[in-house]
Order: sequence, then C-alpha cells, then structure tokens
Amino acid sequence: MKAPIFALVDCDNFFVSCERIFRPDLTDHPVVVLSSNDGCAVSRSNEAKKLGIPMGAPAFKYQELFKQHQVAKFSANFELYGNISRRITELLTTVTPRIEIYSVDESFLDLSELPIADYAVWGHSVRAAILQWTGVPVSIGIASSKTLAKLASNRAKKLPELGGVLNLINNPDTDMYLESVAVQDIWGIGRQLAPKLRAEGIDNALKLSKMYPKLAKQLTGIRGRQTVTELDGISCFPITLGSQRPKTILRSRTFGEDTNSSHIVESALASFATTAAFRLRRSGQLAKQIGIFVDTNRFKPGFRRWTKNMSYRTPIADTGQLINDAVSMFGEIYNTGVAYHRAGVWLQDFVPDDQLQIDIFGNTNIHEHDTSQKRMQAIDSLNERYGKHTVHYATQDLARQWQPKRKLCSPRYTTDLNELPKAKIVHTTNK
Ligand SMILES: [Mg+2]
Repeated sequence: MKAPIFALVDCDNFFVSCERIFRPDLTDHPVVVLSSNDGCAVSRSNEAKKLGIPMGAPAFKYQELFKQHQVAKFSANFELYGNISRRITELLTTVTPRIEIYSVDESFLDLSELPIADYAVWGHSVRAAILQWTGVPVSIGIASSKTLAKLASNRAKKLPELGGVLNLINNPDTDMYLESVAVQDIWGIGRQLAPKLRAEGIDNALKLSKMYPKLAKQLTGIRGRQTVTELDGISCFPITLGSQRPKTILRSRTFGEDTNSSHIVESALASFATTAAFRLRRSGQLAKQIGIFVDTNRFKPGFRRWTKNMSYRTPIADTGQLINDAVSMFGEIYNTGVAYHRAGVWLQDFVPDDQLQIDIFGNTNIHEHDTSQKRMQAIDSLNERYGKHTVHYATQDLARQWQPKRKLCSPRYTTDLNELPKAKIVHTTNK
C-alpha cells in the first residue's frame, strides 16, 4: 500500500461566491449572506471581513455599517448553493472516485493511488478547472494526513502569495506554516481544548506536533493524541467514502412571524415531515420514531418548549403517515394562547429499508408496507423529474405564512426554469 496523501478542497466564502457567479458586478464589492429570517451574517466576502463584520453578526446591529459601505446583502438561497455544491462534487468525482464529502463546501480526496508528478501543479490545475467550470474559487491543501491537509488549505486561503494552493508533501517550509497556525484553529482542537494546551505553553500547531503523545492523551483524550500524530505527518483518520447514513434527521425553522394559528403550525410541521421523510428514504432507511417540538421566542420572557414523540412497531418512511402523526401530536399540545415562534420534526431509531423485520405477533402488514413504498417511489420520482412540489400533501398548503422571511433572496438561477439568468448581447460597430 502506498503512503496516504490527502487533498482538502475548500470553497472560499462559499455562499457569497455562489451569489457572485451570477452577479459579476459584485466582484471586489463587500457582500454578506444572511441566515434564516435575514437575522445574522453566515457568509462574508473578504471585503466584508475587512470592514470588521464578524461571522454571525446580527444584521440589525450592522445596519449603519452596511449602509455606509453599500454592503450587498442576500437572504440565504439554499437551492442555489446546494446545486453549485453538487456541481463541484461531480467535477471532483471525475478527478477521483475516492472522495469524502465533508460539508457543503469541503471535500477530502485520496490522492495516494493517482499518478501525480507535482502536487502543487496538480492543485493549481484542479483549482483552475473548478473556477472555470463553476465560477467558485477554492483553496486546496495537500498533505500526508487530513489534519495537515486542513491546515494547508487554511494557509492557502489566508496567504495570497500561495495562489490558493499549498502542498506540504516534502515541503521544506512545513514547520514555518505549522508555526503560523494558532492552536485553537487546528481541526479537532477548537475552543474547548485550546485553553488547556495554551496553559502548557502550546500555542501553535508546530509545538503541538512535537508534543509527547502520552501527554497529549492525558490533556486532550484519544482524539487529541491522534491530532498530534496527524500533525506530525502520520495519518490516523482514513477517508470515509460515500455519504454515511444519518442516525437522526431533524427539520426545523423559525417562523417568519410568531403565530397562534393551529393551521399555520400544522402546515409547517407537514412541510418538515415531508422533507425529513424524503431524506430518510434517500438514505435507504425506515424510522421507528417521530418527534415534534414547538417553541415560543427564547429571547422573550416566559420562553417555553413543548415536545412529543411516538414509536412505530413497524418502521416507516411514508410521508402521509408521518404528517398525520406530527399534526395529531401537535393537536394534543396546542394552546390558543401561545405565540409559536419555531417548530421542528425529528425522525430517529432507523433500520435499513431492506431489513424490515416481521415481528412474531404478526403486526407487520407487508402488503401495506409495499404499497406505501411504491407510492413514495412514485411521488419522489415525479418530484425529481418535474420539480420539488409537483405532488404534495394538502396539509402543506393550508397556510404558507409560517415560512421564514427571505426578502433579499436572489433568483434560483440554476434550478428553476422561470428564474434563469438573462444575458444581453450588445452589438457595437467599430468605425
Ligand atoms: Mg469554506
């Protein structure tokens, strides 16, 4: 077996970069993308970072600064970001099928079996291809462990002279790069472990890489010891191919406005049950438990949360049944005097959908289960072919008022035929 070599491909300011693909006028201009209900900044362009807008900045507090510097603001357009993310993954899969999708904007690639003569040259060519084919700038770190690849991509992002790529394989400057990364910025260390390490005089990645593994384990546990080994160039965390099956699925949202209408909350719960059930079927699983929660506003006095859950003898993935149960559980806790602010549906206790157990009491109705599976397959394929809500349950429609506000949302350029970008051709005649 060859020595492990990893690349981490990490999109720069991902949501902002997606917005800029179709708004080239915003290049070099400060841009922020705001979270649900346009509350907080969740992605910032480099120009916005330079203005001192921190991650998670509440939009209402920065209104003046936004105005003064004409910061372009967008509501999060998850249809667009999800689509661009899939395009980048598809492109990377053509480089190697040995890919681990780590998050919406980061993937690890296993390069150990690829015939690459010069890793830095390879990195620059992949970076250029992604930029040309999708319009998104990325940073690439290449190293003999995932932790080092993460660190290298962080340096590639922060140091403009690297042009977006840093290769640490046989790089004589490796120690210098390690020294320049603070201990809390190392993957797997974070805010909780960092103070303990700093108290021992270990404040950067180079010092941590030279720590005795025994002491590292005492201070930070097994994961910390592995991080030290990884920083020393020895891989402990192998690549995880494909996407893992989730163990729980949660769908929740803060409403656009507080409400005490049962119809509005039911419609929200029905939508969450629908998307959760779709995700469940996609992962090839059935659920044995469903739960719901409803909240008042936690920032107002008298905050309360109500939860309910129920179990199924026969595990299911049927949207209609799950909606029914979510709505009737809400019926049991509904109170006309409450201003509901947020709600959610979760599914858990999963089994693979090809391993439906027939219980000894004969409670499993196989015929009913098969009919439900076929119905769901039909709905999913229609919705995949003709668009998200082509076939849906009526409860979802009772009221759409619960939906979060997205006043500043850009068009769904890549996923909706009615919102395609328009191009103008200007004809000029040279004299
Ligand atoms: Mg990123």
